[in-house]
Amino acid sequence: MSTPWHILGAGSLGTLWATRLARAGLPVRLILRDAQRLQSYQAFGGLTLVEHGEANTYAIPGETADSPEPIRRLLVACKAYDAVSAVARVAHRLAPDAELILLQNGLGSQEAVAARVPHARCICASSTEGAFRDGDWRVVFAGHGYTWLGDAAHPVAPIWLEDLDAAQIPHEWSTDILTRLWRKLALNCAINPLTVLHDCRNGGLQQHQCEVATLCAELSDLLERCGQPAAAQNLQQEVERVIQATAANFSSMYQDVANQRRTEISYLLGHACKVAARHGLKLAHLNQLQQRLISHLQRLGLPSD
Ligand code: NAP
Repeated sequence: MSTPWHILGAGSLGTLWATRLARAGLPVRLILRDAQRLQSYQAFGGLTLVEHGEANTYAIPGETADSPEPIRRLLVACKAYDAVSAVARVAHRLAPDAELILLQNGLGSQEAVAARVPHARCICASSTEGAFRDGDWRVVFAGHGYTWLGDAAHPVAPIWLEDLDAAQIPHEWSTDILTRLWRKLALNCAINPLTVLHDCRNGGLQQHQCEVATLCAELSDLLERCGQPAAAQNLQQEVERVIQATAANFSSMYQDVANQRRTEISYLLGHACKVAARHGLKLAHLNQLQQRLISHLQRLGLPSD
């Protein structure tokens, strides 16, 4: 029997992965937050994936962190700010050859998780797939995309990529996953905070081209300084292209704030500012943007970390 996929966090991405793996006949177990969430899930009877308007429910077994079964393959599908504490709760169950796949956006949480479970192999992912919850235990597959996976420490691809083929999860093994994560972080820093502060869709930033250009210049300096020159290449052009191509969309940070949810600021803009400071790099506009965003979140009564 193939190795079970343990999915830590049955939110949008966790459900998107769990349901497609289960649909392919692969063994999947959901690890839920606590006994109360497990009870709610069991009463529901499964996870529902809505794709092209069609809903299908999969009766995937659920458990809590206290379940005894050892874990060999763990998909960490929590938000960046929950990842370390969630992994810590199952650390005692990790087999000696355990592998973790980290789906978190931004940077910082991956390093923290790896430090918490130093014997496990940690594989980072960067995904352009999109999903959102439209009810309890129910997720809508909103944007088809791609997931890049990679391990900065070991370039050899894991055997289980064949499970992703079987599950029709579009993916590619990447030998430069850190560059991808930095590039995505830089795009996010140049777009998302400004959409919150200017209260606009991505396309609204076409009215703020100077501000965007200044941020791109500082972000490029940062990427060069932290050994990621490839991530800095033509950053401003790509940011402008993304703003145009997604003009009608609200950024993920905008949506978090609009729905009064905690943002992942510490792992995006916060991480960029922290790394800049570590390198002694003075990025006045990026720091100012972080301060404006923190004040804005505090005014709204939202967590600013
Ligand atoms: P989400 O819908 O909020 O799901 C996170 C899940 O983690 C929730 O179900 C939450 O449980 C669960 N969780 C938190 N702590 C836990 C614990 N200790 N034990 C078990 N479960 C725990 O988040 P998401 O949108 O899937 O995002 C996950 C990551 O993927 C983020 O870093 C995000 O930026 C990234 N990402 C998301 C998308 C997307 O389209 N959604 C696309 C690309 C990247 P409860 O349900 O009990 O709260």
